[in-house]
Amino acid sequence: MRSYWDIAAWQAYDIAIIGGGIIGISTAISCAERHPDRRIVVLERGHLPTGATTRNAGFACFGSLSEIAHDIDMMGADAAHTLVRRRMEGLQVLLKRCGHHVIGYHADGGSEVFLQDHPSLKRLHDVNVLLHDVIGDQPFRERNDLRSDYQLSESVFALIHTTHEGTLHSGRMLQALWKRAVELGVHIRTGTEVSSIDADTGKVTLHCISPHQHVDLTCLQVVVATNAMIPALVQSPAIPEITPGRGQVLVTAPVQGLSLRGSFHLDEGYYYFRELDGRVLLGGGRNLDFAGETTTSHDVTDRIQHALEDLLRAVILPTHYDVAIEHRWAGTMAFTENKQPVVAYAQPRVLVAFGCNGMGIALGSSIGQECAQLLV
Ligand SMILES: Cc1cc2nc3c(=O)[nH]c(=O)nc-3n(C[C@H](O)[C@H](O)[C@H](O)COP(=O)(O)OP(=O)(O)OC[C@H]3O[C@@H](n4cnc5c(N)ncnc54)[C@H](O)[C@@H]3O)c2cc1C
Repeated sequence: MRSYWDIAAWQAYDIAIIGGGIIGISTAISCAERHPDRRIVVLERGHLPTGATTRNAGFACFGSLSEIAHDIDMMGADAAHTLVRRRMEGLQVLLKRCGHHVIGYHADGGSEVFLQDHPSLKRLHDVNVLLHDVIGDQPFRERNDLRSDYQLSESVFALIHTTHEGTLHSGRMLQALWKRAVELGVHIRTGTEVSSIDADTGKVTLHCISPHQHVDLTCLQVVVATNAMIPALVQSPAIPEITPGRGQVLVTAPVQGLSLRGSFHLDEGYYYFRELDGRVLLGGGRNLDFAGETTTSHDVTDRIQHALEDLLRAVILPTHYDVAIEHRWAGTMAFTENKQPVVAYAQPRVLVAFGCNGMGIALGSSIGQECAQLLV
């Protein structure tokens, strides 16, 4: 049985946040900054974070030329512009909060690699004009000269470069955010899985499974930030549909003389690669098997991994054919039909936040700020 003191100190909070990824922790930080007197807890099922935030590629990116051209066609120029602005604002908050050096941020720029002609190449000027006020003069430039600097295959048709993108160390980023949250008085409870939420009375009860026991926590408001796992806890007509998308990654052994710098996008963002401690990190390939990759499983598959290896040897490291693969993993992204992130009440006192659509490093801090504004 719990003591009176335990119940008051450990089981009753003003705000509970489920999920210790970038959205959950950023929400906790923004809430603690706005309301230092509130008792805030983050509940994370893993003993270490187990979500996409430490399974991603570490691109501090705002969208490549072809992705933004596609967004303009899909959602209109105003909405695409707003989305890029939210990403850029989120990145600024993240870098200010954590410090560039602490999270291994390198402002080495980003490149989109085209293996053949693509309609978006003709839209370079228009996209640059649209984003000028958000990003600055000529966000994207054609830099075909960089193909040889980076020792990419001669089959690369065009390279579009931006100086406004960077890479970071995702593990150190989340550590820095957790540290900041704790400094602000947030309780972080790892190894605590929320199995259900009961918000039908005047307060919210969270039924949790901690290592050796079932525990009920109460709070006045809850934020559900469990990425594509949200439907396991919350289902409401008030929230748009979430489609899970698995992202698979591999990392090579160290490569002698590697000359890649910054981040690289290919095939409308379906593939991405970067230098990482003298190795190549390469991910993507979801478009090869949309049905199979619509899953929250963290397994890797032969089909996608072989395709990544073929791309690695043909385009990225054409002169290092025998390079070994030392790491492989997968993580889950949460996609929305209109590519917009969602911050919405599923029911009174239950806020949900998701839908980074593969760009959570940029959007996580913005989404956290929006959640904190709503939690009055
Ligand atoms: C392979 C891959 C590459 C990517 N590359 C990039 C990139 O380069 N740049 C970029 O900006 N974005 C990238 N992304 C996307 C980015 O990682 C995500 O958008 C972002 O991490 C989502 O953050 P989140 O907080 O919503 O979710 P998560 O980080 O997944 O956090 C959710 C947390 O909730 C916890 N949880 C789940 N259910 C429960 C429960 N019932 N109780 C308690 N806790 C629970 C999980 O353990 C998890 O830690 C990539 C994603 C993947 C998968």
